[in-house]
Amino acid sequence: MLKTYEPPDIFRSAGSAVAASGSAPVLEELAAAAAAMPEGFLVLDPRKNVLICNKALARIFNLPVPPLGKSFAEAFGQKRSGDETPEKEALSPPVYSREFCSHILAGAPAVSAEISLSKGAEREDYLLLAVSHHLSGGVYTFCCMKKVSDLLSFHAAVRRGREELERTVLEHNRELMRVNAQLRLENAERSAVAQALRRAESRYRDIFDNATEGIFQWTPDWRIISANMSFARTLGYSTVNNLLHSASDPPFHFCMDQDVAQELVTALENTGSVVNFEFQAVRQDGAPVWASMNARRVAGPGGRTNYYEAFIENITVRKSTEEKLVYQAFHDPLTGLANRSLFHDRLRMALRRAGRQPGYRFAVLYLDLNRFKMVNDSFGHNAGDDVLCHTAVSILSCVREVDTVARFGGDEFAVLIEDTQKNSQAIRVAKRIIDALSCPFCIDDQEVTTGGSVGIVLRAERYEQPEDILRDADTAMYRAKAQRHIKFKVFSQKMREETMESISLESDLRQGVKNAEFFMEYQPIVHMDTGALHGYEALIRWKRKDTVMGPGQFIPVAEETGLIKPLGLYIIERVCRRIAAWTAEGGPAPFVMHVNISGRQLIYPTFPREVQRILERTAIDPRHLCFEITESVLLDNGGACIQGIQQIRELGIRFCLDDFGTGFSSLSYLRHLPLDSIKVDRSFVSDIETDAHSVAIVRNLVCLGQDLGLAVVVEGIERKTQVNVLSAAGCSLAQGYFFHRPMSAVKAEELLARNPGDISTLSPGAAEEYADPEDPML
Ligand code: C2E
Ligand code: MG
Ligand code: MG
Repeated sequence: MLKTYEPPDIFRSAGSAVAASGSAPVLEELAAAAAAMPEGFLVLDPRKNVLICNKALARIFNLPVPPLGKSFAEAFGQKRSGDETPEKEALSPPVYSREFCSHILAGAPAVSAEISLSKGAEREDYLLLAVSHHLSGGVYTFCCMKKVSDLLSFHAAVRRGREELERTVLEHNRELMRVNAQLRLENAERSAVAQALRRAESRYRDIFDNATEGIFQWTPDWRIISANMSFARTLGYSTVNNLLHSASDPPFHFCMDQDVAQELVTALENTGSVVNFEFQAVRQDGAPVWASMNARRVAGPGGRTNYYEAFIENITVRKSTEEKLVYQAFHDPLTGLANRSLFHDRLRMALRRAGRQPGYRFAVLYLDLNRFKMVNDSFGHNAGDDVLCHTAVSILSCVREVDTVARFGGDEFAVLIEDTQKNSQAIRVAKRIIDALSCPFCIDDQEVTTGGSVGIVLRAERYEQPEDILRDADTAMYRAKAQRHIKFKVFSQKMREETMESISLESDLRQGVKNAEFFMEYQPIVHMDTGALHGYEALIRWKRKDTVMGPGQFIPVAEETGLIKPLGLYIIERVCRRIAAWTAEGGPAPFVMHVNISGRQLIYPTFPREVQRILERTAIDPRHLCFEITESVLLDNGGACIQGIQQIRELGIRFCLDDFGTGFSSLSYLRHLPLDSIKVDRSFVSDIETDAHSVAIVRNLVCLGQDLGLAVVVEGIERKTQVNVLSAAGCSLAQGYFFHRPMSAVKAEELLARNPGDISTLSPGAAEEYADPEDPML
């Protein structure tokens, strides 16, 4: 259609206002632009013929094709006949609109109207824009149509777009506000944090500056990089600056001992920290100060040590208190010597050393003062303390620096003699100590000599346990003490066996006391000149298993274990029953029965009462009884014993001092003792025929006894020659194998029966007492 239609020239003219391009035909360009438009577009030439009609406009009017070249009236004006044919109606008949036509054909320069088109049963509203434009050749009409609903939806879209935009802007604004608020908040927070940090920093600075602990940091090359006042003070600096100034010239080793400094750094490097690391720091003036440190290593990137930081506490006071406590824990407060614990430690170290060093030998001495108790009792405890201090000094003067002297409490001392090459070395030390202790010294203007007994363990390195060494040294010391003239004893294997034996003896003895395995023998005491029976000494025997044991073997054990108490009472009861039997109706002539009493028995305050009960039970005349005690009993337990003796004497029992001459009795001492007779020890008798001194002693002892009004018995007479000498020395009563050996009760009774008895020499006045005619026994 377009080819057959010849458009006016203006659409081909290059100078035309409508034509934009000179080369392409303007009409074609306009038609192409119209074809692309969604709105309906129509151009009418001055003759009102359709010049351009795009498909959109054709669709609006239900035209099958754009009516190009047709007259407007023909194309849009009114229904033509034949248009209403049912076939055409069915094919969407064209829409005719009077309104449209009238607006277009009005020729107004510009029309803008809303027109309504009927499309079948429906109506559609369109916006119509029509412009009449005068171009060369006439008035051209340009028309554009757009569905109002499209326009509305366009508007709605625009509105929605606008709303969306507004919403987006709003949200954006809101987000901006939120971000703003967030920023403000963050800012506030940041400044609060900064303020808190500043406050915290100042607090920490306060803590750092005023901490009682020293706080400091130092570099691996021993440069102090920061320190607080306490640390400066600990090291004797008046200000931190002074310290930093002094410490600025590295290395500043604050440790006294460089090995310890190295140890500290090694520990920090290996484990990263140290806790309670105690060391001696060096003060500005060079003095040491004890410090306890908690420190850690601070590593930089790559794990290399940046610096160390530490808390340090001055523990000098604590250390010195500790040292004092340790000293007290290991030393005797009175003498300043080592105590038992320290001595044990030293022994253990010596044993270890012996284990490591073949040929290393050492010895141990155990020492006990002989008369310490007497000094304490007589002079008081202060004097006793003086004796102990004097003893400590004396022992120390006899040993070398390397040796250890200890006090174990009471009057017991021990000495560890290190590195002894020969046994004689330790023995020499023991002798030196004994000599030193034998020298008298003054207490309260009185000369006192205590003397000591020493037990020695040689080759102590052969032992395994310190306790065993001390046990054996103690055993040896007791042996030395038990023997009057020997001041020291070396421990031997035999002693150990004897000790073991004494242990089994002790348990057998307990059993023996329970089972009454004891019996008595009786050794006659006679008149030296006539041999007539004066009385007996009852001597105990123990039938232990298949052997008979003498008292010397078990009485000391009974004394040590306290078994002497029941055993002693058993002996007295048994002897009393024997006396009762012998003195029963028609019994023999009067006699005196000596019974040995141990000092240990006398110290029991109940002893006199027990004796009294036995007397009551057996109903014997107490004058038949004479208790023998030894001098040592009186020396060891003076006061208590004398009181017991007096109470027993009040019961009518006599007392004889046995083994007289072997102890330390002085004339004045003897005078005050409640005694009736003395028995001169057999040691004076054994060599009396040959030793003029012994004769003189015996003669004097006899005179002494007589002068004090005491009967004197001489024991241990074995030979006729001794009898002769003793008779000449004035002795009257005798006991010994020469006259009679200890005998059984039966034999003693027979002997008694054959002898008329003589009590005249018992003690002055005794004869009269026995001569009491009222007494049926006599
Ligand atoms: P002691 O009281 O001095 O007794 C004398 C000891 O000398 C007895 O030894 C006796 O057998 C012994 N003896 C007597 N004449 C001679 C002699 O001529 N030559 C020699 N070499 N020895 C003679 P025994 O029976 O072994 O008693 C030893 C010690 O045991 C007694 O010494 C006494 O201290 C103690 N003892 C004996 N019986 C008892 C007792 O029943 N109780 C207590 N507590 N001790 C007793
Ligand atoms: Mg005796
Ligand atoms: Mg005797």
